[in-house]
Amino acid sequence: MEIIHISAECYPVAKVGGLADVVGALPKYQNKAGKKTAVVMPFYSNAFAAKNTYRLDHQNQVTLGNLTYDFEVLQLENDSFEYPLYQIKIPGLLDRENVYGYEDDTERYVAFQKAVLNWILQFENKPKIIHCHDYHTGLIPFMALQAHKYVSLKDIPSVLTIHNAQYQGQFSFDKLNYFPEYDLSYSGLIEWDQMINPLAAAVKSAWAVTTVSPSYLIELRSAANGLEWLLDNEKGKSTGILNGIDTDVWNPATDPMISKNFNKQNSLSGKRNNKMYLCDKFNLDPSKPLFAFIGRLVGEKGAELLPQIFENTLNNPEVNASILVLGSGDPAIEQALNDLKATHEGNYNAYIGYDEQLSHIIYAGADFLVMPSRVEPCGLNQMYSLRYGTIPIVRSIGGLKDTITDISEKDGFGICHENTDVNEASNAIFRASELFKDQPRFKRIRKQIMQIDHSWDSAATNYIELYQTLLNK
Ligand code: ADP
Repeated sequence: MEIIHISAECYPVAKVGGLADVVGALPKYQNKAGKKTAVVMPFYSNAFAAKNTYRLDHQNQVTLGNLTYDFEVLQLENDSFEYPLYQIKIPGLLDRENVYGYEDDTERYVAFQKAVLNWILQFENKPKIIHCHDYHTGLIPFMALQAHKYVSLKDIPSVLTIHNAQYQGQFSFDKLNYFPEYDLSYSGLIEWDQMINPLAAAVKSAWAVTTVSPSYLIELRSAANGLEWLLDNEKGKSTGILNGIDTDVWNPATDPMISKNFNKQNSLSGKRNNKMYLCDKFNLDPSKPLFAFIGRLVGEKGAELLPQIFENTLNNPEVNASILVLGSGDPAIEQALNDLKATHEGNYNAYIGYDEQLSHIIYAGADFLVMPSRVEPCGLNQMYSLRYGTIPIVRSIGGLKDTITDISEKDGFGICHENTDVNEASNAIFRASELFKDQPRFKRIRKQIMQIDHSWDSAATNYIELYQTLLNK
């Protein structure tokens, strides 16, 4: 392999959010562009693992302080994958059902990263590029550069892609003994605010840093959960590359998960069919515009404002909306969104949980998708919406700013608002409902957005060009 992608998530093996979608698709498109890529990720004991078979590729050990763990590198046997996928199984540590959320996540991900390096160390042909995704893999560039054991990897260029800088994986220097031996005078490279900070370590040690949209790169210099100064200081090696979407998976004409397939020509009847399915299932009136939210119910997504935004909308007779929510996260937000059901039966519903298929049907059947995000490194939901003919209503930030133009502008096709604010978001929904009343314009925009090309082809090439500049150094 020339390029090895290292990640905690990869669709469809294990997905929590957009990281999985990106790592599932980018290697595929890089392969199409002529590069040999592979993905390595942890082995989780989840539904995917239960349904698939694996071939043993390598067995070894990894130490964490005084503890030694056996690990196996398993290669997935599944013809539908267009690149080799390896999963690292560390019994007792990594092989649990969920990706994150355990008390010993630090131990799990440090062990994973050391196991990856131990594995690569014995390759006869080393990869040309090590591409790390988010903080779970952020210690790899440092260890490859500084640890005595990995000295033979130090000339391999490493790339860090920041999908989300909110999560940095900090832990105390008490756990410094988890690290392989290195010259301690370099400890400053892993430190931020007196803690070991894997994301900061990667920003300092990786040869190049990318963010998942150009606007996010700029925004991080003033809002990066404490890393602002560092990201500003490292701007010389940083680039913003907008994510693409996997148009094989996200294609309304072939998507096996939706209730009726459609394309630009028959989008009217196709979308109506999917909307009918949703309205039937969730007891909503299909004659009204259907506004949806899909996502993690956390502050980054502005999710705690949703109950009030929806309350305003549902109480406004001029809007006359149906609203459907799919999400999970903060229990208080989940509760508030559930509570709205009783007062607005027939006009509002929520499915609290994670449901991949339902998300596809909502992208296909909704009229509008609401995204009042506070932070949006790229955002994939708005791009899926566009492809499925659902008009996004977004707060202009990060990737949302880079992908959605307001209908008030020339060739505009979305509804944008400046701030994550209840009144601004409620007003944006009102503007959308006015657009819905103008059916010829609404349908024209719907056709227009389905033609916007956000496929991975150009983004995959941007990464390949970046690798080339590193290899030329
Ligand atoms: P983030 O990674 O910050 O959560 P993105 O917009 O990059 O946000 O990606 C979110 C991905 O997760 C999309 O594929 C979206 O459809 C999916 N998703 C989020 N919440 C749910 C849910 N409750 N059920 C199904 N899919 C979900």
